[in-house]
Amino acid sequence: MTGKDILEKLGLSGEGIIGVKIRGKVFDLHTPISAEFLNDLSSGSVKPITIDSPEGLDIMRHSCAHALAQAVKRLFPETKLSVGPTTENGFFYDFYRPNGFTEEDLKKIEEEMKKIKQEGLKIRRFEMKKENAIKMYQEKGEIFKVEILKGIPEDTVSFYEQGEFSDLCRGPHVPSTDMIGAFKLVSISAVHFKGDESYPMLTRIYGVAFPKEEDLKRYFEHLEEIKRRDHRKLGRELELFLIDEDEIGPGLVIWLPKGAKIRRLIEDEWLKIHEKKGYKLVYTPHIAKVNLWKTSGHLDYYRKFMFPQMEWKEENKEKKKDSQDFERDIGYYEKVPYQLKPMNCPFHIQIFKSKTRSYRDLPLRLCEFGTVYRYERSGVLHGLLRVRGFTQDDAHIFLKLEQIEDEVVEILDIMKYFLSLFGFTDYMVFLSTRPEERAGTDEEWDFAESALKKAIERSKMKYEIDPGEGVFYGPKIDVKIKDVLGRVWQCSTIQLDFNLPKKFSAFYIDSNNRPQNVYIIHRAILGSIERFFGILIEHTAGNFPPWLAPTQCAIISVKDTSNSYAEFIKNLLEEYNLRCELDLSTGERLAKRVRDWEMLKVPFMIILGEKERDEKKITIREKGGLIKTFSIEEGINYILGRCKVNSGE
Ligand SMILES: [Zn+2]
Ligand SMILES: [Zn+2]
Repeated sequence: MTGKDILEKLGLSGEGIIGVKIRGKVFDLHTPISAEFLNDLSSGSVKPITIDSPEGLDIMRHSCAHALAQAVKRLFPETKLSVGPTTENGFFYDFYRPNGFTEEDLKKIEEEMKKIKQEGLKIRRFEMKKENAIKMYQEKGEIFKVEILKGIPEDTVSFYEQGEFSDLCRGPHVPSTDMIGAFKLVSISAVHFKGDESYPMLTRIYGVAFPKEEDLKRYFEHLEEIKRRDHRKLGRELELFLIDEDEIGPGLVIWLPKGAKIRRLIEDEWLKIHEKKGYKLVYTPHIAKVNLWKTSGHLDYYRKFMFPQMEWKEENKEKKKDSQDFERDIGYYEKVPYQLKPMNCPFHIQIFKSKTRSYRDLPLRLCEFGTVYRYERSGVLHGLLRVRGFTQDDAHIFLKLEQIEDEVVEILDIMKYFLSLFGFTDYMVFLSTRPEERAGTDEEWDFAESALKKAIERSKMKYEIDPGEGVFYGPKIDVKIKDVLGRVWQCSTIQLDFNLPKKFSAFYIDSNNRPQNVYIIHRAILGSIERFFGILIEHTAGNFPPWLAPTQCAIISVKDTSNSYAEFIKNLLEEYNLRCELDLSTGERLAKRVRDWEMLKVPFMIILGEKERDEKKITIREKGGLIKTFSIEEGINYILGRCKVNSGE
């Protein structure tokens, strides 16, 4: 019995259906379904799969890969086939062809695929003994297929056939080639067969596919929009930051003046709300003795993300012998290795331990813009989003178990307020609970998990539970934010810790004068300032809310005769702490100057000519083109109002 038979029997067949899901497993319409799935065929356990469902898309994209292989074999029969799976938005197929394919070839292949679609070839599944399949492929010279077959443990293998083409394949597939959707071949790359360098290079042809033409169009528009907002591109154009892999190092960020201005404004607002909520700001070093990381346990479980230790080499000794500083070089005599910090926690714990803490001191909230260094593989580095040196908006809260719930409510409060300043109001909250292997007692986990749950509920936030996804030392809350393109970014984290305080023997004195275990909450609102800045650039496309714009007002003098009036207005605006730049390039056309400032995404242009000068007025052109003339006082008030931190932009 096939999927098609079952759907017909249940009266579920219809147009646009390309597969069937039985108790969670996906089948196409042609595959005989194994007996274990046939014993409970109520309509409740059987669901038809349409082309626009995730499973349906996957089936359709796999059929696109076959059409691609068929087209290549028609046009370039000497090509040898490897494999062709689906991807997030489409499919690819790997081919062996010594000279690869050109852009021209790609166009021809795409045309041929369209023909194959129009031909509406029935797609048929059949089985073969593996040894016969190997023989068949050997005769055809398909050496890669032979290799693949040799790696398959089963005695019988399945094929899918459409017209003159057939392919070793598990399926599932659409019933006929005219049911594949809208597709486009997009790129070529070189890969090794099985990812193994001892095999020859294959050419991988990538395509994307969607149910309808308009879906395909939307996909490319979305890609364009992502490209337009790419923070690396905008970072260069707006002179926000710099990453110089050759001279400075991969993943190490230089904040240019304009980016640094924005960072400072973010940090100032951050500090304001945190001090209001009882946090104390601290600063800690960037390196510490290796032993600190031994005590904390990071050397055991975090080592692969840590930069190598700084050892005192023997060659230093030779050099130092000649130097007068030798005797005074205490560091040399210590011979203790140091370590660049991957986290700030051990420093904050040492601050906690630096004096006797009473129950009356709790919760103790220490916060820091702590720059940490983590060794990420160079392949995963990406602009500001994945770096090797970054600054966490970190805080550690030392508290009693019973204080967790209230404290987490406060943290979520800060988070909601602070993220809203940047226009992020769409969150997804995840609570990760106890994993199999863990520190802490079951009572501690019970108490802490329920405290976190209650805190989220009191904050009136929707959340999902990720069972077992907590780290070994405590449950955590992750907050993801959605940007304007609907992309989801990991942002805030609230992590409970049963483990670290014990490792450092950190305790407080209770009301009966007895030492008690203290608990720690590690938390960050933005996560990494670098990463958050990258997200913010893409979210706003560089059009930062006016309170964050590095230059808020461009003062443009129309003619030389208005230059001194423009200077007067600039000085006046600066008295109100507005960030201004003066443009006296009166030789250029005004339209061009306006366009240039627009490119720099300055929110307000103050355009001043003789008329404004004589009438003591200012003309404000806002981003987007809205123009209005004000009296000086009204104009300043208007801009100040729009530049308020909580102006809701
Ligand atoms: Zn296949
Ligand atoms: Zn921490």
